[in-house]
Amino acid sequence: MNAAKTPPPSRCRCLVLNPGLEVLDYRVPPGMVVGPGSVVVAPLGPRQIIGVVWEDGRLPGADFPLAKLRPLLSVLPVAPLPAPLRRLIEWTADYYLAPLSQVARMALSSSAALQGGGMTTEYRLTGAEAGRMTPQRTRAIERLAGQQATIRELAELAGVSDAVLRGMVTAGLLEAVRVDSDRAYPMPNPDHAVPDLNDGQAEAAEHIIAAVRARRFAPFLLDGVTGSGKTEVYAEAIAAALAMDRQVLILLPEIALTQNFLTRFEARFGAAPVAWHSALKASERRRAWRQVSLGGAKVVVGARSALFLPFADLGLIVVDEAHEIAFKQDDGVRYNARDVAVMRARFEAVPVVLASATPALESLAMAEAGRYERLVLPDRFGGAQMPDIRIVDLRTDQPERGRWIAPPLVKALKERAERGEQSLLFLNRRGYAPLTLCRGCGYRFCCPNCSAWLVEHRLSQRLACHHCGHEVPPPPTCPECGEPDCLVACGPGVERIADEMAQILPDARVIVATSDTLNSPDKAAEFVELVTGGGVDVIVGTQLVTKGFHFPDLTLVGVIDADMGLEGGDLRAAERTYQQIAQVSGRAGRGDKPGEVLLQTRHPEAAVIAALASGDRDAFYAAETEARRDAGAPPFGRWAAIIVSSEDEAEARDAARAIGGTRPSLADVAILGPAPAPLSLLRGRYRYRLLVNARRSSDLQSVLRDWLGLLKFPQGVRVAVDIDPYSFV
Ligand code: ADP
Ligand code: ZN
Repeated sequence: MNAAKTPPPSRCRCLVLNPGLEVLDYRVPPGMVVGPGSVVVAPLGPRQIIGVVWEDGRLPGADFPLAKLRPLLSVLPVAPLPAPLRRLIEWTADYYLAPLSQVARMALSSSAALQGGGMTTEYRLTGAEAGRMTPQRTRAIERLAGQQATIRELAELAGVSDAVLRGMVTAGLLEAVRVDSDRAYPMPNPDHAVPDLNDGQAEAAEHIIAAVRARRFAPFLLDGVTGSGKTEVYAEAIAAALAMDRQVLILLPEIALTQNFLTRFEARFGAAPVAWHSALKASERRRAWRQVSLGGAKVVVGARSALFLPFADLGLIVVDEAHEIAFKQDDGVRYNARDVAVMRARFEAVPVVLASATPALESLAMAEAGRYERLVLPDRFGGAQMPDIRIVDLRTDQPERGRWIAPPLVKALKERAERGEQSLLFLNRRGYAPLTLCRGCGYRFCCPNCSAWLVEHRLSQRLACHHCGHEVPPPPTCPECGEPDCLVACGPGVERIADEMAQILPDARVIVATSDTLNSPDKAAEFVELVTGGGVDVIVGTQLVTKGFHFPDLTLVGVIDADMGLEGGDLRAAERTYQQIAQVSGRAGRGDKPGEVLLQTRHPEAAVIAALASGDRDAFYAAETEARRDAGAPPFGRWAAIIVSSEDEAEARDAARAIGGTRPSLADVAILGPAPAPLSLLRGRYRYRLLVNARRSSDLQSVLRDWLGLLKFPQGVRVAVDIDPYSFV
């Protein structure tokens, strides 16, 4: 009786990538085959838009009659977004109060990849001698050595026009190469160079490997001191996933670390992993995205955005240096990649490893509660000792006038120089000086777009804002009083410490390592090579040098200002100070020579400093836990920030007051503010902030949605919600 065949669904619900639209229904024309995850082209008015077919029931929409729906135009030649990724998109949008379309755009992060594979033309230098050379051609030849890419990309790399390069093709200086944009990557081999793990390492690896083989969700906190071999341990779990022919995602906090990591990975697996970060060229993005979705990219190492790649068959996720705040994204969708990684692992039903020597309190609490399995590596590999940490009390051991390195540290630096060992000076401040004054009238050089001082960068001869990127050359006269040559530098930055180093040890080879100097994977690789090869005596660096690097001849770490991170109202200031100093200390004595760390401080009695000096991590975490419990802060309570901004100060203030005026009154939620943000003007926008502090049990997201959903604001006002906020600038 019943018809044997159910007719194919003739309508479908799409999540479209246009902000403000989100969910639209379409008719599926005869002959077109779509299912959940299909990436489609759909009409919208006269335009064509991209959408992803979704399960009907999971997205609310208006049930228009079929006859009124417009037909889809085509299905794009890519694999459907897998169900676990669709669930991740939903979860991220819901948890972080972000528009679904904005989250979906993070997953469809290469528009070229959506157009399919196929052959493309790339160009490279032929090495031929040019008849007629112009300055532009010379520049192109200099900058394009070893590069192969499209004309557009090469033009960008070389800083010349497309036309110059086309001329070079005609002149035989550049040649065309046909490449398959879907070519696979070299396969990492799990058995290439298997290390001998020590007992502790092997035991930790076994736990993770068992979960990889069982294909089950299992979050691990790999808690091992610096130099204990955490990388070697999770590498064995990666090998297990590779042996099952599954894919692996490794998240790293910083692009500067990738090169270092790639080399090490290649030594272990015989082939480099696939890198994913914002500095990739469009053609590289296209290939990587497609190969991830086709399963041909086996291991991806990337920045937080790699979390939303469409893996065909993910078997394991690793978050290295999982405590790093670089995993927190503070614009667009404000998410924490560490937490989203755990959710992705859950949807994929695979293990996730959070590796750190200084785990976030939140992660430790999850382990304590039995929700994460904690794997401990208490000792450094190969008998290397943890460094000896000493305090330099700046109140009694004062540096000379106008200097920042106190006598005990000067002495230790000289000893290292005599022994031919390397030193690292840590100061988390780029540039020469954080504040510049006029010597005549005391005028302070400030950013016009932000309530912040301009930082002098002497190497590049500019005054720069570290918040918005505004830059000016140092003015010849004071803009206020007209005094010539008036600039006085106040306080130290890394460049100034490097100058001081040159005075202390005139023969020392000093290198400044910051995001200004190590701003590309290549530069970072050069840095590592230089230091490892013994071409550097003293590194002066910011937080960039606190993590990941392994320099066996580095035996001294000097922390210029251990108190710096404790200033400011950040609720995690103590924890961050602890992590930063413990991490930078961890760079000392990783080889067979013992390491020493000197902490310059004015507050040796502060709990953080005392814990660092005595090496008593547990005492620090215990004290910090109690402080958080008292404050109802994470992990005991939850925070959200509501940030209201406008180019018009009154408009921002009024909008913030309007939000404040409609605050819900709930027993388990406290709402503070509105108050001007610490940086009340940022990138030309005035900012006000409300802080919401809720009990763990409360449904914070619903409270915020109900509250903010009712309000309307003028056009120029932006209201952003930051769930689990980190940076409070
Ligand atoms: P962590 O990430 O815990 O700071 P690493 O993984 O960088 O530590 O290891 C520190 C150093 O010890 C590295 O040079 C690493 O190659 C070496 N190492 C660690 N475990 C082993 C092992 N089982 N066999 C050989 N070398 C190891
Ligand atoms: Zn600025």
